[in-house]
Amino acid sequence: MMEWRDQVAVVTGGSRGIGRATARLLASRGAAVCINYISNGEPAEALAREIGAAGGRAVTAAADVSDAEQIRRMVERIEGELGPITILVNNAGIITAGTLETFDSESFEHMRRINVHGVIHATLAVVKGMRQRRYGRIVNVSSVAGIGTALPGSTFYAATKAEVSLLTRRFALELGPQGITVNAVAPGFVRTDMTERVRRDPDFERRLSERAMMRRIGEPEDVANAIGFLAAPESGWITAQVLTVDGGRTDFIGHA
Ligand code: NAP
Repeated sequence: MMEWRDQVAVVTGGSRGIGRATARLLASRGAAVCINYISNGEPAEALAREIGAAGGRAVTAAADVSDAEQIRRMVERIEGELGPITILVNNAGIITAGTLETFDSESFEHMRRINVHGVIHATLAVVKGMRQRRYGRIVNVSSVAGIGTALPGSTFYAATKAEVSLLTRRFALELGPQGITVNAVAPGFVRTDMTERVRRDPDFERRLSERAMMRRIGEPEDVANAIGFLAAPESGWITAQVLTVDGGRTDFIGHA
C-alpha cells in the first residue's frame, strides 16, 4: 500500500479558502503539495513557506485552469520537481450571480470554463501518468448548489456544480479499471473569500446556521478533512461518490 509520504498532490485554487486548508492538511500528512492559483501569488507563497517551515514540501504554480495548455505545462513542471502526481484536488472555482431574469451568456461561459472545463483540463493533464502507474486519487469540489438549492441568485453556478458532480461519476466509471478513484465533496456554505460579500449581512450567517443540524456554517477545514479522507491511500474502494459536507442542511430534507 502507498503511504502518505509517497504522495504528490496538486490542489487547484490552493492559495485561499477550501483549497488552502486542503493543501495544508495534505502536507501535514506527508504529501508534497503543489499550490495552484491564478493571480494572487502572495497567499500561495505564504502557504508554501508555512508548509516548508513545518517540515513539509510545497511549491506554488500560477496557472489558469480554464486554459488547457497552461495546466498541461504546470503538471509537466510539477512532475519534474516533485515526482509523479498521485492526488489531484479540482478545487478552483468562481461564483457569478445570475438568475433566468439576469442571464448573461458571456459571464456564464466564463464561469463554466473555470468550474467545468477546469476540472476536465486538470484531470486530463494528470491521468496519463496515473493510468501508467495504475494509481490515482481525484477529488472534485462540487457544491450542495449542484444537488438542490443554495444561495438565491446563483442559478447558473448551481448548473456548473451539477456538471461537476455528474462528471465525477462518469470519470470514475472511465478510470476505475486503471486504479484511479474519482470522488467529489459537495460543501454547504463555508467561511471563505467567496462568501465574504453575503456574510457582510449579520443576519445571513445566523439564518444559514439555523438551517444546519450542526447549527453553524462550515469552516474550510471541515471540507478539507473530507477531501483528505477521499484522497487517502486507504480509500481505494470508494469511487463515484459525491459526499455532502454541509453540517446537515435541514432545507434539503424537507425540514426547513
Ligand atoms: P475562494 O476563497 O474564492 O478561493 C478561490 C481559489 O481559486 C483561489 O485560490 C483562486 O486563486 C483560485 N482560482 C480562481 N479562479 C482560478 C482559475 N481560473 N485557475 C486557477 N485558480 C483559480 O474559494 P472557496 O470558497 O475556497 O471555493 C473553493 C471551491 O469550493 C470552489 O470550487 C467553490 O465553488 C467551491 N464551494 C465553495 C463554497 C463556499 O461556501 N465557499 C461552497 C460550496 C462549494 P487566486 O487567489 O489567484 O484568485
